[in-house]
Amino acid sequence: MDYYGNQITKLIEELSKLPGIGSKSAGRLAFHIINMPKEQVEALSGAIVSAKNNVRYCSECFTLTDNEFCPICASEKRNHKVIMVVENSRDLAAYEKTGKFDGVYHVLHGAISPLLGIGPADIKLKELMVRLEKDVDEVIIATNSSLEGETTAMYISKLIKPTGIKVTRIASGVPVGGDIEYVDEVTLLRALEGRIEL
Ligand code: ZN
Repeated sequence: MDYYGNQITKLIEELSKLPGIGSKSAGRLAFHIINMPKEQVEALSGAIVSAKNNVRYCSECFTLTDNEFCPICASEKRNHKVIMVVENSRDLAAYEKTGKFDGVYHVLHGAISPLLGIGPADIKLKELMVRLEKDVDEVIIATNSSLEGETTAMYISKLIKPTGIKVTRIASGVPVGGDIEYVDEVTLLRALEGRIEL
């Protein structure tokens, strides 16, 4: 039964495909959008399309960016010999917000999860190993403290150990099962400073 007419139903349908948006929220958003000024709706849809068309992976660290290299990898002020490995670009942003890490990052885009069928080849691990062929002093593993994050940390540490590069894991200041992006900056800093060698 189509209560609203095709166009609105289609909008609700598309919105409800977004993560965390149930059909009720999708309905609320759809009516909000329809009541917005036309220019604002055009700015929103334009930003979505333009982001999708122009955002790409950084050739070095694989975070999402507009150019071949992200601003962090392109910066000479950063210590390119210390690489912090994170699960996604939002975790990178969380650590960047602390303003205290002057190394660079490597974004895996996921974590190993045998349960979900996500193996080492499904995340940007090969790409990390290629980076380690250059002069690197330390790899800080900052994956989440979930089962997947820990599995990934163990796997990476075993992979890197033979290279002789120092491998550390952020301290357990980050709550177990906690997503790094929701942890406050002080806790993140403490986890970083208290990192232990694997
Ligand atoms: Zn980068």
